[in-house]
Amino acid sequence: MRFDTLAIHGGQEPDPQTGAVNVPVYLTSTYAQKAPGETKDGYDYARTKHPTREVLERSLSALEGGAGALAFSSGLGALTTLLWSLSKGSRVLACDDLYGGTYRLFEHARRTWGLETEYLDMSDPERVVKWLRKGGVQMVYMETPTNPLLRLSDIDAISEASREAGATAVVDNTFATPYFQRPLDLGADIVLHSTTKYLGGHSDVVGGALVFREKATYERLKWLQNAAGAIPGPLDCYLVLRGIRTLGLRMRAHAKNAEAVARALEAHPKVERVLYPGLPSHPQHELAKEQMSGFGGMVSAELKGGLEASKLFLSKLHYFFLAESLGGVESLVEAPALMTHMSIPKAEREKRGLTDGLIRFSVGVEDPDDLVEDVTRALG
Ligand SMILES: *Cc1c(COP(=O)(O)O)cnc(C)c1O
Repeated sequence: MRFDTLAIHGGQEPDPQTGAVNVPVYLTSTYAQKAPGETKDGYDYARTKHPTREVLERSLSALEGGAGALAFSSGLGALTTLLWSLSKGSRVLACDDLYGGTYRLFEHARRTWGLETEYLDMSDPERVVKWLRKGGVQMVYMETPTNPLLRLSDIDAISEASREAGATAVVDNTFATPYFQRPLDLGADIVLHSTTKYLGGHSDVVGGALVFREKATYERLKWLQNAAGAIPGPLDCYLVLRGIRTLGLRMRAHAKNAEAVARALEAHPKVERVLYPGLPSHPQHELAKEQMSGFGGMVSAELKGGLEASKLFLSKLHYFFLAESLGGVESLVEAPALMTHMSIPKAEREKRGLTDGLIRFSVGVEDPDDLVEDVTRALG
């Protein structure tokens, strides 16, 4: 099956009982048993097993080409559960540009149970390979493209080095989505998603997911999904499934519009620099062409005049709502240092190149001419 077909049919079949083409939203927390311990197909309690969630999980697994997937109440719920699979004192090597909440969680795990996370600029895979050769790392955590600097990690090279070092390679694929990038095909072990973003696609649900290359890892985490309990509700599962059905259509429009906005920004004299993997000026444009089949809908930029210029610009936009989050059909814009990434200390942000004036665009699927006009008008 090709992607657009997979998004509609992968892991999904008409309801066997009625033929309903949409999966029923089973609003139940428990199931009647025939005799004590005698359940119908293992359905005993909804945290453990839920039919609407199972369809979402099968769909997610099909999209990423995995051996199984698990759905969670949020992206961070997925990460929390994943971190619980590590033993005390484990070492993680993470890329140094990360979603703010991901960084906050790694640092919390350091303080509470001694998880040792080291952050490394992963744009040069050789640096990662050298680091891993020293040994002792249990998990390598990549976000690619990163939030918000849109840096790339070479998934193939870093996954191979992780395997040699006996570490699990994890990729946060929230920005690219499986439509543009399939980390498991490139050798990664686990894919993480905030389904809140492009998979849901309509800014109406918060959710997360993990997808696994190997059945054994899936089984281990499935046990933890139930034990830790960060599961999504049935209606949330349905909303993510509904979003998934149009993922290809939306991602093509997001990428086309993002490229138009990125080019307009780059050509404007008031813009200092534009970060978009699809631009030839992006330092990893070649790698982007290799490991992604498109460049996504996220664009970051710095204006001349820093934070003050950014604030003025943000106040003048019409179609881009000033809001956290991303990946919905409507265009959003934000200042990461003051919003999504505020949980990273300023000194740490600056070390990574995340300036106070940086602006992050989540380019929606409106008419690209309107979006370009809006941005150009606001630059004045
Ligand atoms: C939003 C986001 C997360 C966290 O997901 P939630 O659903 O908000 O918990 C993780 N990674 C990336 C790249 C994100 O953008």
